[in-house]
Amino acid sequence: MKYISTRGNAPVLSFEEAMLTGLARDGGLYLPESIPQMSKADIAALEGVSYEEAAFRVMWPFLGGAFTEDEFRGIIERAYAGFAHDARAPLVQLGSGHFLLELFHGPTLAFKDFAMQLIGQLFEASLTRSGNRVCIVGATSGDTGSAAIEAFRGLEAVDVFILFPHGRVSEVQRRQMTTPSEDNVHALSVTGHFDDCQARVKDMFNDFAFRDAVGLAGVNSINWARVLAQVVYYFTSAVSVGAPHRSVSFTVPTGNFGDIFAGYIAKRMGLPIDRLVVATNQNDILHRCLSQGDYTPDGVIPSISPSMDIQVSSNFERALYYAYGEDGNAVGQLMDELKAGGFKVSQGALEALRESFDSGNCSEEETRATIARLWNGTGELLCPHSAVGVKVAEEHHAPGTPMITLATAHPAKFPDAVEEASGLRPPLPSHMADLYDRSERVTRVENDLTAIEDIIKDRTGH
Ligand SMILES: *Cc1c(COP(=O)(O)O)cnc(C)c1O
Repeated sequence: MKYISTRGNAPVLSFEEAMLTGLARDGGLYLPESIPQMSKADIAALEGVSYEEAAFRVMWPFLGGAFTEDEFRGIIERAYAGFAHDARAPLVQLGSGHFLLELFHGPTLAFKDFAMQLIGQLFEASLTRSGNRVCIVGATSGDTGSAAIEAFRGLEAVDVFILFPHGRVSEVQRRQMTTPSEDNVHALSVTGHFDDCQARVKDMFNDFAFRDAVGLAGVNSINWARVLAQVVYYFTSAVSVGAPHRSVSFTVPTGNFGDIFAGYIAKRMGLPIDRLVVATNQNDILHRCLSQGDYTPDGVIPSISPSMDIQVSSNFERALYYAYGEDGNAVGQLMDELKAGGFKVSQGALEALRESFDSGNCSEEETRATIARLWNGTGELLCPHSAVGVKVAEEHHAPGTPMITLATAHPAKFPDAVEEASGLRPPLPSHMADLYDRSERVTRVENDLTAIEDIIKDRTGH
């Protein structure tokens, strides 16, 4: 199994190389050169197996022999051992034919744990074998940083540095980053905004001397291994409601398009998915693009579902690649137009996208109303992101086809918004109840490249 770039101009890589590289050298994103198929019998055989076993069967064909079967089974076991629910991704029923896939039982209470925990173990296995060390550096507005720290804490071959904007993440998010006590974890509280943190990370990747000296690596949402980990729960949940003997639809609260793109891969592998519904908050560039064909960013408006506050949805490039008939040059051209302001999707490509995807948006008021209505009507307390999904799912639910909405975070991660909407302040789950008592360890640093690089060099002995 080889991996190719969406822009068609980068070296072809193995699974392991694509995972360690992240972004392709032509600026594109890596995709498998062909998509492995699961037959109806293969899918039916997933019924009743553990999440870990299903994960092995779904992901194995993509690895191209990067690990032995036993190694990969061990990686999966370790990745999901820290989840608080035996089913890992349990399904609850919200209404007639409408189900909620709870993806928030991982250690940091958001679906990003499914991918980060796996990638942590994949990196560790790969680096232990090669004898290399890497230094993971990332910027976060909250969820990604805590998931990365939780995934890499205590691993031998990795140091992890996370830059977050001082005073601008929630207390739960900050404590998740500052309370791990392992020496390889470094939380840096940077004077400034999220954009400043992200800009300094970019600067570090462009400082080649520094980059090579410390062995810089990234694990942002365009990493193929992260997308692959998310394909699994589309299979397990669809089988729970009757696939492959009936079709299923999904609605996905969407920002960077990574999670819903994993659903598209599941569909191309043979899972009978009818509709994939993109749910956006008031930052609805994807909804505008899928309904009108116009992809023009116009400024982020902060919302109560902050993990979906995006202007440029990086994984959408992967969907465009298939919509344009796997034409890397066409994709490269669109991305050039995007740099100059925006692009229009061709009629043919728009039709191709609409064969799989629908879309809808949800205002702040509708988000709060959905949290209150679901809490009163079903006893399910939704986080604001999941509420966006539920509202859009209800508008797209065709009778006769089960609808599964992805619940992307635990309500306790966004206690203020949830309390305002429902009147109930969601408590932390019991395995995290002492989060407020643990001692914090954090380094304050100015928004200054040299100061940040010096800390990283010092801590990693360079
Ligand atoms: C990251 C995130 C999303 C958006 O997922 P994408 O893969 O970026 O589309 C939605 N909800 C929550 C809670 C998230 O953390």
